[in-house]
Amino acid sequence: LVEIRNVHKSFGNLEVLKDVSLSVEEGEIVTIIGRSGSGKSTLLRCINALETIDSGEILIEGQKIGPKMPNLKEMRQRVGIVFQSFNLFPHLKVERNITLAPTLTGRVSKKEARALAERVLAKVGLAEKIDSYPEQLSGGQQQRVAIARCLAMSPHLMLFDEVTSALDPELVGEVLKVMEDMARQGMTMILVTHEMGFARNVASKIVFMHQGRVWEEGSPAELFSNPRTPELQAFIGSTR
Ligand code: ATP
Ligand code: MG
Repeated sequence: LVEIRNVHKSFGNLEVLKDVSLSVEEGEIVTIIGRSGSGKSTLLRCINALETIDSGEILIEGQKIGPKMPNLKEMRQRVGIVFQSFNLFPHLKVERNITLAPTLTGRVSKKEARALAERVLAKVGLAEKIDSYPEQLSGGQQQRVAIARCLAMSPHLMLFDEVTSALDPELVGEVLKVMEDMARQGMTMILVTHEMGFARNVASKIVFMHQGRVWEEGSPAELFSNPRTPELQAFIGSTR
């Protein structure tokens, strides 16, 4: 589904991604781990063409992505991205937050929109909040609405960048559970997280990034039980 080949990316003189290659099959849950500044967020942003790459290529469903691709908008609809900050529109009810993009892009009619909002809210366990405003929700609930908003576009791939990092500890579990449900239903996901328990239990593949490179990759069992490099050993040690 996703093919990343020899990607390089610099900001000025700083090379942030150095020859990154990675492939993600349909239905896979790929978790990217690594220290702050290792390039995790930049890689996710490149996959969604929020950043341009300097060389190499990224293909999604066989299509080479980049700012010049003819159907960039359509590609963005197939690839959902959720960030640490939820970015809900504060002046709009939950329903409108969810239905705005699908109605503007003509995916659904105004008539069908509420049913769509109901359907995706049910998936994140928030059906009863459809008429609330974001400020009336907890952080965990807002993040679940942000996920529902992505689901409303029927993405083929979901990218998550530390979506639980801004939450109070007691709210982390409910968001992880939603993501686990999505994984179980076959959604292809690439996520950056510091939740090592989630990475261990849910991921089909772990990618350890270090200094802009894919330093190690493999199954959770391989990487966590048997890290080959001192860098990954040190990283795992620091998360305990
Ligand atoms: P964290 O765990 O802290 O989120 P990360 O692995 O996601 O870190 P990135 O956000 O990808 O790291 O950043 C990698 C490097 O690129 C960092 O040194 C960062 O300062 C730099 N960087 C990221 N975005 C930009 C930008 N827009 N302009 C300049 N430098 C940037
Ligand atoms: Mg980051």
